[in-house]
Amino acid sequence: NWQIIQNGIVAIERAEQLLTTTPEQDPSKEALVLKDVEGNVEFRKVTFSYGGGKERVFAELNFQVSAGEIIALVGESGGGKSTLIDLISGYYYPTKGKVFIDGNDTRKLNLESLREHIAVVPQEVVLFNDTIMTNIKYGNFRASDVLAKAAAERASANVFIEKFPQQYKQMVGERGVRLSVGQKQRIAIARAILRDPKILILDEPTSALDSKTERFITESLEGLMRGRTTFIIAHRLSTVRKADRIFVIDEGLIVEMGTHDELMAIMGGNYRNRYELHVGLQ
Ligand code: ADP
Ligand code: MG
Repeated sequence: NWQIIQNGIVAIERAEQLLTTTPEQDPSKEALVLKDVEGNVEFRKVTFSYGGGKERVFAELNFQVSAGEIIALVGESGGGKSTLIDLISGYYYPTKGKVFIDGNDTRKLNLESLREHIAVVPQEVVLFNDTIMTNIKYGNFRASDVLAKAAAERASANVFIEKFPQQYKQMVGERGVRLSVGQKQRIAIARAILRDPKILILDEPTSALDSKTERFITESLEGLMRGRTTFIIAHRLSTVRKADRIFVIDEGLIVEMGTHDELMAIMGGNYRNRYELHVGLQ
């Protein structure tokens, strides 16, 4: 039995670690609960460094995004795209300056209520060792089965789910079916649809999808983006071209900002060079 006891001790240690983790936000502090959000985002003189260190990711970064705009974030790896997104979701706060959501400083917001209005479709989708249904409801645990299925349909995920022997009750992961990158992405889109957020964050997968899957995903994403402020870390040219504005981010600076046509008009510009070389966009 020694083996069992040892495994138990390890499990207890892990549980203890989790239980003693300090919450992100002090619950005794008065934080503003966001009820209705329009989706306006503003960075005002945002300076940021991880852990308050000397290496600055951003120095006095300014921009404003109106509700419903689609913004493509383009640039070399390490430029600060993910950090910018994390500042919007309140995973980090600026070292100096402020991030506003509908004019409210993120530092003063109740994080749970802020994140209720934000959905993220990550580059690498994490699925739990549970049924397809539970995995979709991860977007919103209060949703009914009917709504979850409707979300799967809008994400074109029903096509492959209905082919599983147990359909929505099919287990995924270790004890069930394995899903392809494109299928996982569609589950993530279904989660986002179910969440019905005002701010949508998309991290496009870099791995190539076959053209049929890509078409499915593009269509469901376009439906999802309508009426929501969207930030896309974009790798595909098709996505970038359709954005209302493109932010080219390089070493923590927005070096160019504008529509595809505007940025293409800058001779020798960063975006134009990228486009011509297809580097970082394909
Ligand atoms: P991108 O998403 O454009 O690739 P990131 O926002 O991930 O860029 O990174 C911006 C800079 O911040 C990089 O120099 C990176 O090394 C650094 N960085 C990112 N995450 C962390 C972290 N958790 N701790 C310390 N430095 C980080
Ligand atoms: Mg990143």
